[in-house]
Amino acid sequence: MEILWAVLILLGLGLLLGLGLAIAAKILHVKEDERIEEVAKKLPNYNCGSCGYAGCKAMAEAIVTGKEENLKKCKPGKEDANFQPIIDYLDKHPNEDGSKVKVHL
Ligand code: SF4
Repeated sequence: MEILWAVLILLGLGLLLGLGLAIAAKILHVKEDERIEEVAKKLPNYNCGSCGYAGCKAMAEAIVTGKEENLKKCKPGKEDANFQPIIDYLDKHPNEDGSKVKVHL
């Protein structure tokens, strides 16, 4: 009988903690700009850091947020990648206020 109570208490605690985590995940959810992921996919994805950022996703975030305009800072991309898909994508996906993300080669 004692084992049954212990199991029931653990199940109850598990359910409560799971519910708390689910609610916290909903409340604390941080919405990320989906353009960052799309631009990151279009970079070479060597994650070499030679652009001065921690990796391709950090470079993509800098591009989308307007901190970085020069796509040629991605040195491997100069030879391997065509940056035109990034320029085209950002042209079709402006900022929320309608302004374009400024990028150049
Ligand atoms: S230089 Fe290019 S490939 Fe290297 S981390 Fe930066 S964006 Fe990625």
